[in-house]
Amino acid sequence: MKIAIYPGSFDPITLGHLNIIERAAAMVDRLIVGVLQNQTKKPLFTAQERLEMIEEVTGHLPNVTAQLFDGLTIDFARRCEAQCIVRGLRAITDFEYELQLAQTNRIMAPEIDTIFLTTELKYAYLSSSTVKEVASFGGEIEYFLPQKTAARVYEKYQVKKNLNQATEAVDEQN
Ligand code: ADP
Repeated sequence: MKIAIYPGSFDPITLGHLNIIERAAAMVDRLIVGVLQNQTKKPLFTAQERLEMIEEVTGHLPNVTAQLFDGLTIDFARRCEAQCIVRGLRAITDFEYELQLAQTNRIMAPEIDTIFLTTELKYAYLSSSTVKEVASFGGEIEYFLPQKTAARVYEKYQVKKNLNQATEAVDEQN
């Protein structure tokens, strides 16, 4: 049985990620999307929310599941009994970082291979952080995210906006 993991932050999942998931799922018996919990940069969504968003948009793929993980990717791969790690490559800027990660993982776990899938050209400039920036200024993000995910992002920024307004109102009163 061929098992692969696809680890990442997915804050939030984009159409670029989904494209990699669909293509990787067609290559293996089981694909486990790993949602990284221990992040230095503060994510917009909690790990649980990021996991739910992935589950929401991968329901059509019977061999795909999602799990939270922290610690080393290779330890997660071993727990999943996976033989490979899937990563997506967009531009040359991804290449150096990804190669470094893959080589480090290979030294620590030679039995696990990293497989790179190149992005669809139309998603080559798509990243979760760009989408968040666009959304924070009220821009349209439906081109970049699954519909359900886009709704959650708008909702999150609305909640943040309301919270900020409420805090400002309290500050003004004091
Ligand atoms: P990380 O913090 O581990 O880079 P991300 O959620 O940003 O997590 O990305 C997870 C993986 O998906 C990485 O391999 C990244 O290069 C890849 N990826 C991100 N966006 C795209 C995209 N638009 N097309 C293809 N692969 C992508």
